Amino acid sequence: MKKLLSFGFVSALIGSTLVPSSSYAAFEPMLDESAMNQAIDPCVDFYTYSCGGWLAKTQIPADYPLWSRSFLTIRDQNEQILKGILEDYSQDNFSHPSTYQKKLGMFYGSCMDTDALKSATPKFLKTAFSEVEAIGKTRTLSQIVGKFHKEGIGLFFNIGSTQDKKDSSRMIAVVDQGGLGLPNRDYYLEKNEKKEKIRSQYVEHVAKMLELGAVASPAEAKKQAQTILEIETELAKNSLSPVDRRDPYKTYHPVGGQGLKELAPSFAWDDLFSQFGIHQTKDLNVAVPEFMSGLNQLVTHRPLEEIKLYVKWHILHGMAGAMDLRFVDENFRFYGLTLSGQKKQKPRWKTCVASTDSLLGEALGEAFVKKAFGEEGKKQTLHILQALQASFEKTLSSLDWMDKKTQEAALVKLKTIQNKMGYPDKWKDISKMDIKKTNYLENTLSAGRFWVEDDFKKVGKPTDRTEWYMTPPTVNAYYSAEGNEIVFPAGILQPPFFERNAGLAANYGAIGVVIGHELTHGFDDEGRKFDSKGNLNEWWTPKVAETFTHRAECLVNQFDKYKVAEGVSINGKLTLGENIADLGGLKLAYQAFQASRKDGESKHPSLSPEQQFFVSFGQAWCTQITPELEKLRAATDPHSPPQYRVNGSVQNLPEFAKAFGCAKSKPLNPSRTCSIW
Ligand SMILES: [Zn+2]
Repeated sequence: MKKLLSFGFVSALIGSTLVPSSSYAAFEPMLDESAMNQAIDPCVDFYTYSCGGWLAKTQIPADYPLWSRSFLTIRDQNEQILKGILEDYSQDNFSHPSTYQKKLGMFYGSCMDTDALKSATPKFLKTAFSEVEAIGKTRTLSQIVGKFHKEGIGLFFNIGSTQDKKDSSRMIAVVDQGGLGLPNRDYYLEKNEKKEKIRSQYVEHVAKMLELGAVASPAEAKKQAQTILEIETELAKNSLSPVDRRDPYKTYHPVGGQGLKELAPSFAWDDLFSQFGIHQTKDLNVAVPEFMSGLNQLVTHRPLEEIKLYVKWHILHGMAGAMDLRFVDENFRFYGLTLSGQKKQKPRWKTCVASTDSLLGEALGEAFVKKAFGEEGKKQTLHILQALQASFEKTLSSLDWMDKKTQEAALVKLKTIQNKMGYPDKWKDISKMDIKKTNYLENTLSAGRFWVEDDFKKVGKPTDRTEWYMTPPTVNAYYSAEGNEIVFPAGILQPPFFERNAGLAANYGAIGVVIGHELTHGFDDEGRKFDSKGNLNEWWTPKVAETFTHRAECLVNQFDKYKVAEGVSINGKLTLGENIADLGGLKLAYQAFQASRKDGESKHPSLSPEQQFFVSFGQAWCTQITPELEKLRAATDPHSPPQYRVNGSVQNLPEFAKAFGCAKSKPLNPSRTCSIW
């Protein structure tokens, strides 16, 4: 469980939404004048100026809740490549010599074979539910909770390994809040019409799943679903909000196993941990202590029958995507259609590609990189990265609001940031993952067991700095404060983010800003709390920390004022880290571009090189999104919506106003600007 500060959209929410192969799009070019709308005043709405042409001709495909000129188009391309690889591996009777190819082929093949799930699903549910029925008779609640956690089915809370936030050299165990079916606590607790409506739709969904799983008859399903909502509401009340979870101190309480037992004595913790091979729990972080004491209350005062009902629901919920299509369809109806506004399900092969990427990611990534990634691209992007680092170093050295001591520590942190480009040096060994030519449900459980075991094996061991937390085909990038590292999977090093021959302005405006964004995360309101070694540590002198907070407050106020869909506003506090990274990334990339540029022939003579830089940045964000998903993201995603990532960033850069000759009175050349780095 590592916290990643990523660049793009939250993948879980767009996760599984894809275009039919008929609408298979080619890579969008880097800077494209036909995607612009030059009738719009760039000083008023730079997003529409950059993207207006594209927005006018682009509709969201029915099986997507959003479509973007960069992330989604590249992802669609990558998926086609992965599909080719997996079809090849799955259709030749598994004669491929490498066991990885065999595993990939069998896993993907089993996912495509939905007929096999018709008999496998009731068999799985019968066995699972009889385990649940044994609670209070031959088994304890802790035994059953442990058993399902081991298969990757989360109940009540999350549990696993994590880096010790104050000793980055070692891995410890962690117990954290969890156990909800709706996106976060606000969905249970907010008292307004919109959330009430979602809650009643959720109850209908839970009821339908209970019926499909033969847990309840149609007559009693609704009432039971209501009980489940009540239980989850209790869990939600003791959970931290997404804003609070951005403060790393609020999720660090290394009270150990003894502390956990005092908070939640109803669970047999020693027994539960020993199921994961952990026999001493001295080194344990209880991320949210009030959640665990609340949970203890819940399991002691609720009747056992209600607890069993909750457990059954989460088995159905956790495995919905891997069971027969009745469950898949119902799961889509609520999470895809209702919550995200996605009209149609994606074709099965896209689900299977995504699932193989998620569960056997690096094995598949190795094959992907061989096909799709050029070493020359890696060399050039590393060069851009170095230019960005040099411009950040210059900025840090000349800041007037930092004292010497903090400045020196900041420079050390900057210089120690590790970078990972393209794909891992060492691929994950999944030879012990047990994939058979049986059915997708069994293979999914098997893969779940492998990853849970792999995660727990790390407890008590030194931190492994070579690990990657995104797979190579992923169209995204991240900074990890605990690893003090920036990571760029091969997936994002493609047009319209990067192209070898695109020219400096286009490349610095796109991939340059992505790299600058990730670098800045090390120095945003959350990342700054970790030192160069990835330890939670106050390396800032109090006065400088106060100045930083004051400067950041400017961005909170700016973004709080932006409206999303139907009166929903951006949460300036939730999005602060990302907004700092966007602004810092744009500024650093611009400086690095100015330092590296050479005058020469231009591919876009109607735009100056500076204008090309900014348009390339704007066009990385051209996005169409359903109102449903826009609202969901405003409540859950630390990234601001695309139009504000563009307009909200450029308006703070005097260089932008200069490039487009914006008069002082124009909206994107305000008299007061925010500046952090
Ligand atoms: Zn980010």
